[in-house]
Amino acid sequence: MPELPELEIYRERLVEALVGRTVEAAAAPSPFVLRTADPPLSDLEGRAVEGVERCGKHLLVELGGPRFVAIHMMLAGRLHLKAVEGYKPHRKRTLLTLAFDDGTLLEMTEAGTKKRASVHMLARREDLGRLDRGIDPFDPELTPERLGALLGERNRQLKGALRATDLLAGIGNAYSDEILFAARLSPVRLTRKLGDDEIVVLHAAIRDTLGSWIDRVRERCPKGLPVKQDLWRREMAVHGKTGAPCPTCGGAVAHISLKDSETNYCPRCQNEGRLLADRRLSKFGIRRPPRPRE
Ligand SMILES: [Zn+2]
Repeated sequence: MPELPELEIYRERLVEALVGRTVEAAAAPSPFVLRTADPPLSDLEGRAVEGVERCGKHLLVELGGPRFVAIHMMLAGRLHLKAVEGYKPHRKRTLLTLAFDDGTLLEMTEAGTKKRASVHMLARREDLGRLDRGIDPFDPELTPERLGALLGERNRQLKGALRATDLLAGIGNAYSDEILFAARLSPVRLTRKLGDDEIVVLHAAIRDTLGSWIDRVRERCPKGLPVKQDLWRREMAVHGKTGAPCPTCGGAVAHISLKDSETNYCPRCQNEGRLLADRRLSKFGIRRPPRPRE
């Protein structure tokens, strides 16, 4: 799933390619992608793109009027910039296309059979609030104190808290592993047990990690849209690195299944050298073998 660093690069590139361009034709070959009925998609035709923003895990394309197109790629959705000339939608994968007056075409695709990616058409910016409730990690209002208060609202495991969309916006399974590694905090630490000093460290790790990955994605994908995530994500410290040496201590990166996520961490750097028990398996006395990267 594209997370904040990838979404930020999508945003930058879409601004370069689309701002000032007018929509000539809007189509949804897969009508289920459109989760709103009013305003209709055809309402975009004749309107020019004024900006592109990142709001949590949504990309928000603003057009004159105003009209807003909120795009959520979920796990397998991707955006592509193509030429209108000679374009043919993919029979199964193409969800939505916007053709612009300069011959550029924005295509949204989704691989696989589970169609979860979504597009909302909005006439008011305020309507976005109900789609994404978390605070942006780079919002100046997100001080260590505010982060501590948010984490204290419910006692939950740190890994799940970082990914919770009602808490922070744009952090998913991959970057939460990297943030916790940078902060040297265990993914199963309970949020209400964190000390003030640990919250300060976590706050810095969130911004430093996401900020440096924005730079890295921009570098690894110097033009076009950041579709091939593996090009940079394979450089991660712990995420997807089960069994590989930890870049800090050289010990083996470990793996644990937590609810719906596959989590990687370094036992030495993040958990005082102890392996976390994988509850789903350990109750059967089974030890999980290292997994290859997904
Ligand atoms: Zn380590």
